[in-house]
Amino acid sequence: MIVVAIDGPSGAGKSSTSKLVAQRAGWSYLDTGALYRAVTWLSQRENISSAEEILSAMKRYPLRFVANPSSPQIFVGDIEVTQEIRTDVVTQAVSAISAISDIRAELLTIQRKFISSAERGIVVEGRDIGTVVAPDAALKIYLQADLHARAERRSAEVNSSTEVISHSLNSRDEVDSTRAISPLAKAMDAVLIDSTDLTLEETVERV
Ligand code: C5P
Repeated sequence: MIVVAIDGPSGAGKSSTSKLVAQRAGWSYLDTGALYRAVTWLSQRENISSAEEILSAMKRYPLRFVANPSSPQIFVGDIEVTQEIRTDVVTQAVSAISAISDIRAELLTIQRKFISSAERGIVVEGRDIGTVVAPDAALKIYLQADLHARAERRSAEVNSSTEVISHSLNSRDEVDSTRAISPLAKAMDAVLIDSTDLTLEETVERV
């Protein structure tokens, strides 16, 4: 079973690229950011913040990710939260939740189980896939782009100014790349792709 790991900062095009690569290959897809977002959503719904409370809520409401790259879905217990995990309230809180070591450990187990259950191959995107989750991945990509380019793309998707988005992306990257456990980092053997001047199709082609 082949694993392709795609890491990089927020808004570099990891999701769009990963889904298209997985579709083209006929492989599964795992968006690990969606798992961190789902845990954040659950903590907000239950109004809890300690690792202990969150881990116990995760037992009551197990996460389930549907690996189909043309319509990935995520469930918390029986509740589908595919759209809800993209709201600003979740986005603003996710990096703090992701920095909690016990939560990362629990999600690491879930991610590895999911990856090993893929039928043929799987494209996995996140921040620590090449460095921690799948260090033996057949191909590791580190996808980056200038902050301005990332903010402009994101602002075309959502109804918010480039300045506001740029600030949000930057502060998330700051927390994600400076945390003690599994910070966002390029694996030594990852191929660097800068998508600043590439279209989505060109990025997919490069991968
Ligand atoms: O990829 P996405 O922007 O949806 O990820 C949301 C957040 O989840 C990131 O900002 C980061 O804090 C966290 N994350 C992580 N490790 C991963 C994937 C995501 O810490 N492998």
